[in-house]
Amino acid sequence: MATQLIVLGVDAASPVLIRRWADEGKLPALRALMDGGVSGTVAGVEGFYVGSTWPSFYTGLNPAGHGIYRIEQFRSGTYEFFRPFDIPDGIGGTPFWRLASDAGRRVAVLDVPLSRVEPRLNGVQSVEWGGHDAVFGFRTSPPEWADEIRATVGPYPLPEDCNGDRRTAADFEGFVAGLERATSMRAQLTLDVLRREPWDLVVQVFTEAHCAGHQCWHLHDPNHPAHDPGIRAELGDPLERVYRAVDAGIARIVEQAGDARVLVFSAHGMSHFRGAHFLLPRILHRLGATARRAAPAARRGPLAAAAAAAASTVGRLLPERARAAARALSGRPGGDRPRAGQRSGGAPSGRRPVGPLDAIDLERSRCFPVANGFPVAGIRLNLAGREPHGVLRPGAEAKAFCARLADDLLAIRDERVGGPLVRRVVRTEALYRGPRRDALPDLLVEWNDVPTGTVAHGSGERATVRASSAAVGTLEGTNRWPRTGEHVPHGFFAFGGAGVAPGRRDLGISSLDLHPTICRLLGLPDPPVDGAVVPELAG
Ligand SMILES: [Zn+2]
Ligand SMILES: [Zn+2]
Repeated sequence: MATQLIVLGVDAASPVLIRRWADEGKLPALRALMDGGVSGTVAGVEGFYVGSTWPSFYTGLNPAGHGIYRIEQFRSGTYEFFRPFDIPDGIGGTPFWRLASDAGRRVAVLDVPLSRVEPRLNGVQSVEWGGHDAVFGFRTSPPEWADEIRATVGPYPLPEDCNGDRRTAADFEGFVAGLERATSMRAQLTLDVLRREPWDLVVQVFTEAHCAGHQCWHLHDPNHPAHDPGIRAELGDPLERVYRAVDAGIARIVEQAGDARVLVFSAHGMSHFRGAHFLLPRILHRLGATARRAAPAARRGPLAAAAAAAASTVGRLLPERARAAARALSGRPGGDRPRAGQRSGGAPSGRRPVGPLDAIDLERSRCFPVANGFPVAGIRLNLAGREPHGVLRPGAEAKAFCARLADDLLAIRDERVGGPLVRRVVRTEALYRGPRRDALPDLLVEWNDVPTGTVAHGSGERATVRASSAAVGTLEGTNRWPRTGEHVPHGFFAFGGAGVAPGRRDLGISSLDLHPTICRLLGLPDPPVDGAVVPELAG
């Protein structure tokens, strides 16, 4: 029996660019899949599409079901941050490859982001041979397979962290060529796996599209404030180069696929960097929602503030990694995978950094910001009965507070464009229900769609945001985070191969539907998840 189902992720690939370049003949393998099968868009997990995308894909659960929204996230019932991947029950739900393996199917799972190696899997699994977010480091099941991969395919050709100080065409050429090479090596690894035996399920993710999008959006998009036509002319379109490399990899895999059906997808996408995360702590303070801890008058200044924070109870409660997570909130580099001491935001040993919670008077704050990625900011309510020093009473009082806060946030003007700075404010409980709802931020602040530049690229144009309203006055802040691309909450899919007839090209599905649909395609019982089987794919 041949391999049944091959699932290929193109991490954070833009559905708009995939469709455009497929139509233009630049992505022939994807074009062939679309022409011969069913394709369309994938709606990601609203509000949490930066951090929850991959756990939602492989568990079929919404963020309130699996409880993951960030590598280092707030721990409900405390004022601490923690790494849910580090603890055994840190993720709710069951990966579909676990279900397939338990049902006796042979599975090969390669580099699905933010997933851990399953014990006693009926097959093989690798995590983080290379990728965008490193949580566990490269490891495999069985463990000795890692050495084999290093010997046959080689080590990943780029550093673990795709952030870098790239200024010249040569800097970007080295990066993009490395991503192209990595893509080809990944395809080779998948081909090696396909040749080993007939599998029931092979899953593999091209993570390179994710890194290219974050780092190179300004060279792809001529409307980005940091666009550099000179570098672009030398380099070509970096995103198109990486997407073409992925397509070439898909072509090789499809050629080897035999009778397998092939599902290619992204569960979130990419666009320009936007938002004003660096202003949120000050906005909440000006609105009187978050109270600051008073600094002793005689010890003002950054070093004194650090010393004051070090003496505070909250400061003592926060482990170093949590403080690294908190730093991302203050507008300093920290990204969607903050790790202690690795960034310019990391504190030299022996001196304590100051994170937003260190500076917050939690006994007088009705809410405080918690990092949730850049395009949608997170706010945690300081609820009585849930938080250790909760002051806001759940129910009517919390509801009225949230409504007022939303009005105040929506009233802030972005002086760059003369329109609102915030597009939408939504309570998480209005979006999701599930056993881990309390693990998530309570309020989501979606910034407007205006591109925000960065001082790290070009002349720093539009890196500074001035915002004003009657309630907050005027605030100004500057984006220093080096990335120029950020996520958008939708992706694409194309499904084809043996036995799949040409069908719709505009089918809209949810990323939560992929898990139960894959289970159905493998002949497994329908799992108890939040998504539903897509009948056009697995009726
Ligand atoms: Zn990302
Ligand atoms: Zn990356």
